[in-house]
Amino acid sequence: MQYISTRGSAPTLDFRAATLAGLASDGGLYVPAVWPQMSAADIRALAGLDYVETAVRVMTPFVAGVLSEDELRALCQAAYGRFSHDAVTPLVQLDHRHWLLELFHGPTLAFKDVALQLLGQLFEKFLGGGGTDLTIVGATSGDTGSAAIEAVAGREHIRIFMLHPEGRVSDVQRRQMTTVLAPNVHNIAIDGSFDDAQAMVKRLFGDAEARSALTLSAVNSINWARLMAQIVYYFYAAVRLGAPGRQVAFSVPTGNFGDVFAGYVAARMGLPVARLIVATNVNDILHRALSSGDYSAGSVTPTATPSMDIQVSSNFERLLFDLAGRDGAAIAGMMDAFDRDRAMSIPADMLTEARGLFSSARIDGDAMSLALRWAQEKGGQIIDPHSAVGLAAARALEIDADIPVVTLATAHPAKFRDAVERATGVRPALPARLGNLFDREERYERLPGDYDAVKAYILSEVARG
Ligand SMILES: *Cc1c(COP(=O)(O)O)cnc(C)c1O
Repeated sequence: MQYISTRGSAPTLDFRAATLAGLASDGGLYVPAVWPQMSAADIRALAGLDYVETAVRVMTPFVAGVLSEDELRALCQAAYGRFSHDAVTPLVQLDHRHWLLELFHGPTLAFKDVALQLLGQLFEKFLGGGGTDLTIVGATSGDTGSAAIEAVAGREHIRIFMLHPEGRVSDVQRRQMTTVLAPNVHNIAIDGSFDDAQAMVKRLFGDAEARSALTLSAVNSINWARLMAQIVYYFYAAVRLGAPGRQVAFSVPTGNFGDVFAGYVAARMGLPVARLIVATNVNDILHRALSSGDYSAGSVTPTATPSMDIQVSSNFERLLFDLAGRDGAAIAGMMDAFDRDRAMSIPADMLTEARGLFSSARIDGDAMSLALRWAQEKGGQIIDPHSAVGLAAARALEIDADIPVVTLATAHPAKFRDAVERATGVRPALPARLGNLFDREERYERLPGDYDAVKAYILSEVARG
């Protein structure tokens, strides 16, 4: 499989190079040159397969030419063997038509583990021959940081520097990062906001001195391999609910448009997806874009669902690329205009096509709390606020009564236990596998919100070896 950039002028890469590169050199995002197809017979043959075998069947075409089926299987076994539930992503029934797909049984309690555990394995495999040492630098508002650290801690040839805004992530989130004491893990608490941290990371990637000293890589969801890993659970869930003989709808709590884009890929591959519901909180740029074509960024409003508090959703560019007939030059023009104006309107023909598959809903804090209580009272489940945004959207939209609706449960309720307790009166306990999180030693560097200080720290730590 070859990978091409959404902006049309970066070199075409194989799976290995696209995984290590993250962002394309023309500023675009890598996508497969074609969408592999699974026939009804191929999908029927997934019935009864476990998660790892399903993953191998779904992902093999994307890694073709770089990894054999057996190599892919070994990486999946290592990645998903660390999950605490044998089904990896179990389905839970809420009522006669609503289901939850629990994606939070990995080491850090959010769905990001499903992709990052595999990405950690892929990085190690690709760097194993020696040669380059990779330096991963990222900024996190919570979930990505711990999942990425957990995925690469202790691995050779990889170092990770993770910036978080001091005092602005929850205690659980901070401790999940700072109690990992492996020598290749560097947590940096910066004095400032998440946006300040993110801006420093972007600046570092464009800094000639840093680029010549380090082989930099990114672990956010612009990395194609992350999205690829997420396609699997759409197949896994739909097959259990009757696909290919029956259509299934999915509701996805959305921030950067990565998770729901994986559902779009599943549909393009042949999975009978009746609807993809893009559920946003009050930071609703995607809801406005999909309902009226208004793709314009404002400022971020903090909510009880911080992992969805986002204004610009990077992966939306991948959908626009397909909607524009894969015309990279057209996308480059649209994205340049968007960078300049922070706003654009989606052309009517593209919008009509998108709405053939996508619906959207904006869920405010009250609707989120109501859904949390509905899950508790009717479905017997304590869910997290992000999942509740998805469930509220799933219940709000009208879909044929015979189509099952699966809400993606993106985080364990214990990860956001203050908000869960406010809505339900129940304080979810941390799962046993995190047991002594609050007794463990923490280690992190505190730095001022100053780019030069952060850069100097990273360069000197790497030089120390
Ligand atoms: C990251 C995250 C999301 C948003 O996912 P995207 O792929 O960015 O759309 C939703 N819920 C939780 C708990 C997350 O950590």
